[in-house]
Amino acid sequence: MILIDGKKAAAELREELKKEVIQLKEKYNRVPGLTVILIGDMAPSQIYVRNKEKSANEVGLKSEVIKYPDSVEEKTVLKKIKELNNDENVSGILVQLPLPKHIDKQKVIETIIPSKDVDGFHPMNVGNLSSGYESSVPCTPLGCYLMIKKVEPNLSGKKAVVVGRSNLNGKPMTQLLLKENCTVTVTHSRTKDLKAECLEADIIVAAVGIPELVKGDWVKKDAIVIDVGINKTEKGLVGDVAFDEVSKVAKALTPVPGGVGPMTIACLLKNTIECFKRSQI
Ligand code: NAP
Repeated sequence: MILIDGKKAAAELREELKKEVIQLKEKYNRVPGLTVILIGDMAPSQIYVRNKEKSANEVGLKSEVIKYPDSVEEKTVLKKIKELNNDENVSGILVQLPLPKHIDKQKVIETIIPSKDVDGFHPMNVGNLSSGYESSVPCTPLGCYLMIKKVEPNLSGKKAVVVGRSNLNGKPMTQLLLKENCTVTVTHSRTKDLKAECLEADIIVAAVGIPELVKGDWVKKDAIVIDVGINKTEKGLVGDVAFDEVSKVAKALTPVPGGVGPMTIACLLKNTIECFKRSQI
């Protein structure tokens, strides 16, 4: 069984990006810039943002974090986003989610100009992705996609099952697999027989949020299994896939932690660089 090492894949991607940033600097005499807006003091968000900043600096991007207290007014945040939209030193803008209740998430997402939307959440980017056009792609599914392609470069005709249909993970993952000519089944909480669906799959991507939902006897021999889930349990962090059981049948599997997570941040850097390059045309 191939253990898909997300830390290693992310380090390799960062190395490639680092070289690209040097070339971009030579060509344009400036480097791509990522600005993250962090609202409130929720510990997980603080950690995510710190890791994003550290990784951005590591590959040579210009990075900035703008912090607001929980009580910040929505209009202040929207005004700042509009300023950043017009700042040519900013290639990518990310507003760390979740937001306090009084701030409308969709309004925030739609205020970021699509060309700087490094999260790929703006409806225009969502539409472009589903139409098969160039767009920013949400970082987690992009990371999953790159890891699947490392194991199996030609996905044409493969049967993929995506478990979960969130805008963050399941839906963009589906679009990426469709683009690769997979036959994709999207499953969710109302799916009648999830086990039977999964048993058909050459590729399973589980993005649900239920600890060890996908069992060993749900997986076809030699399937590629990507576990997006991060669940805190009594036995520590586990994914949406029963790792020990599934590792006995799968051809390749991502661990939790150390699988999809590290690739997510590396893909954010990749998206920032792509936004920069598109803005230079
Ligand atoms: P979400 O928005 O809560 O969506 C969960 C999806 O799972 C929904 O579509 C839901 O169906 C479906 N679902 C729920 N119960 C199900 C069941 N019994 N069988 C089949 N499908 C079921 O979650 P998310 O934001 O996509 O996140 C999913 C997991 O990924 C979480 O554990 C999260 O922490 C993790 N995550 C990891 C990363 C990373 O970097 N590794 C990034 C983001 C998220 P309905 O649509 O019918 O409700």
